[in-house]
Amino acid sequence: MSSETTTRSGQQLIKEARSRVDELDPSEVKRTLDVRESNGSADEAPVLLDVREQHEYEQGHLPGAIHVPRGHLETRIETAVPDRSRRVIAYCSTQNRSALAAVTMKEQLGYDDVAVMTGGFTLWRDRGYPFVQPRVLSDVQKQRYSRHLLIPEVGIEGQQKLLDAKVLLIGAGGLGSPAALYLAAAGVGTLGIVDDDEVDLTNLQRQVIHNSERVGEPKVESARKTIAALNPDVDVKPYRTRLNADNVLDLIRDYDVIVDGADNFPTRYLLNDAAVRERKPVVHASILGFDGQLTVFVPYEGPCYRCLYPQPPPADLAPSCGANGVLGVLPGIMGLLQANETIKLIIGKGEPLVGRLLLFEALSTQFTELKVRRDAEGCPVCGDHVDLADTEFEDYEALCAAAG
Ligand SMILES: [Zn+2]
Repeated sequence: MSSETTTRSGQQLIKEARSRVDELDPSEVKRTLDVRESNGSADEAPVLLDVREQHEYEQGHLPGAIHVPRGHLETRIETAVPDRSRRVIAYCSTQNRSALAAVTMKEQLGYDDVAVMTGGFTLWRDRGYPFVQPRVLSDVQKQRYSRHLLIPEVGIEGQQKLLDAKVLLIGAGGLGSPAALYLAAAGVGTLGIVDDDEVDLTNLQRQVIHNSERVGEPKVESARKTIAALNPDVDVKPYRTRLNADNVLDLIRDYDVIVDGADNFPTRYLLNDAAVRERKPVVHASILGFDGQLTVFVPYEGPCYRCLYPQPPPADLAPSCGANGVLGVLPGIMGLLQANETIKLIIGKGEPLVGRLLLFEALSTQFTELKVRRDAEGCPVCGDHVDLADTEFEDYEALCAAAG
């Protein structure tokens, strides 16, 4: 082959590329990662650039690496790494593709300082260094959640948050039924359901997660069956019990968001006090007749239930839905608003209903929003002077009975 020829074999090309870029041993790259971690800031640290294909990246990559497949280098690198003076350490599975990418970046795209990690991800992993395996959606999940993936506020990232989220529903009744159904459909990965009741024929006018064949079955079991048939991604944890002072902390501790569909005051107060102590957000709704109300209690960011209602009402003014009428669709509307708030909290988008109390009147179809504030001075639970750490929970049944 004459020296003038411009045709080279792929191997030669790679060899030349490797001779024109700095190579770093994975141990040196590991050191820069450790420094980045101890400084807590990624701004000054070198950019780790993974130039492998999508399927390789999904099987594991260096922590904090930016992914730009080599085939998309020219079109995507300027967005991914806008600062051309920043140090970049590129890697692939060995070092061939990363060497070619590094040469392109240095010699054609104007990046000052691009090095390559010797041995690539293969050697990195063989050395036992840490790597991240991104959770990826299966092809079936991409179809199931395709309408979520099409809205940027959710997208793959939001859908993964939903799949990782744990939501505890207090009650599988009028509010809990629609909330659980839609949260399950949305792909919330873990749904805990607390309810000690059984399905009754009078429930079916509104508690749509149950059906005629399940009359007499525990509600948590009926709900589990419906959700299993709707979405196999959801892990249902049934708790056939009533929330009480002994179990409340253990029940709520593992969950990210609590959906309060309780139909009685003792449970509401108990849940509130425990949730403030554990700093768990509670999406609250209640209904009666044609009226519903909704708010989100995020401890110390907004009011808690007791900031609004310091003491339970007298028993004769505190009806439960067991004995009183309710328009069947009303808990459906309010339960879905709860599901909406829950999803927003999980994906971190939108404006949660914190410090706002939404009232809905079904006959006139009117929504009214009231501003509500945390009572930092006077609240017996989330007030500044209250130390909840060792508080024993009150006997709420007695509290409510006494109030009557
Ligand atoms: Zn409070």
